[in-house]
Amino acid sequence: MDKRIYLDNAATTRMSDEVLNYMLSYLKEEYGNPSSIYDLGADNKRALLTARKSIAGVLECEPQNIYFTSGGTESDNWALIGSAESRCHQGRHIITSKIEHHAIIHTCQYLEKRGYEVTYLDVDEQGRVELERLQKALRRDTILVSIMTANNEIGTIQPIEQIGLMLANHPALFHTDAVQAFGHIPVLPEKWKVDLLSASGHKFHGPKGIGFLYVREGIKLPSFLHGGKQERGMRAGTENVPAIVGMGKAAEIAGKTMLKRMERETSLRDYMIHRIETEIPYCRLNGPRKNRLANNVNISFSFVDGETIVILLDMEGICTSSGSACTAGQAVSSHVLTEIGLPEDIARGAVRFTLSEETSKKDIDDTVDILKQILEKNRKMNPVYTSFAKLNQRR
Ligand code: PLP
Repeated sequence: MDKRIYLDNAATTRMSDEVLNYMLSYLKEEYGNPSSIYDLGADNKRALLTARKSIAGVLECEPQNIYFTSGGTESDNWALIGSAESRCHQGRHIITSKIEHHAIIHTCQYLEKRGYEVTYLDVDEQGRVELERLQKALRRDTILVSIMTANNEIGTIQPIEQIGLMLANHPALFHTDAVQAFGHIPVLPEKWKVDLLSASGHKFHGPKGIGFLYVREGIKLPSFLHGGKQERGMRAGTENVPAIVGMGKAAEIAGKTMLKRMERETSLRDYMIHRIETEIPYCRLNGPRKNRLANNVNISFSFVDGETIVILLDMEGICTSSGSACTAGQAVSSHVLTEIGLPEDIARGAVRFTLSEETSKKDIDDTVDILKQILEKNRKMNPVYTSFAKLNQRR
């Protein structure tokens, strides 16, 4: 294939040309330090404010609620460790789900080693956190609940607004990892009664290594990095101005185009699922059909390993992922797929395709056509499949 088909937008997105062009002047001419008082610095300070306003506009909150970080991982670490440290006198119990990103799970494990107790909630077979389970897990000494807005592997959108409502009369802080959701679905922390929210620039066509943490007005979080007075003393270190302005521009574009994009991607996603389900035998959709990110298709194919399919698709110029990008390369099946109850062999056959506004119907058709060929050829080389197929023919 002469053209690359990029279907791994949950791992990262291509930075848009508009974002890159906007950033360039901050890499070349506008190189001042925002803390300097002369014009070159002040211009940069204003650029930071513009970015903060753009992000706040999408979240429907005030710009001062936004703190810039180095990405989703830092935002998650800051939210969890900061909440734990600042609330330890009230309790040491934290609730999260078993299908969070490792930026949450591993941070929780870190906190467990420091004397905190973490309840990891089971999810249903679609990956949804059940409200009754959460209600039962809540205790008087629960200081933090962290549930992701949307899952990075199977696209499940969690009932964040209902959880916020449930927690409204509980002193626990409510954090949501919105890294896969921000810029893709409406994310409204104030309406949802969320206290802390993480997002990352490279997931919505902005640059890598930049993100933000939304902190609700009145929440006191200890600063995560110590040093200068940047980010109102909350996050020290000279600001990464080009990346911040790029993320601000990407947020502005994402906010403006979101509803149209969702509609288009939903229809392409469902078209892809339909073609695979009707044309390729022995496969199953992982995650829900509704309440799912518009760009996410995650399907398990029996009799061929997901990792093998991803490599063979790559040889045809098609980028996809088996499990999440952060765990790819590891020979273990994804914790998310295991937690929704998939047996090991089905979990290992999973491939994730994540679309973007740059994905065309032809990209989907070409991918499904090649996928069919790969499966047909490779299944035939699997003796388990051949004896299974023979048995099925006889029936
Ligand atoms: N949270 C979720 C749900 C993610 O999908 C990711 C990245 O894939 C992260 C956190 C980490 O974000 P970053 O890559 O910006 O550190």
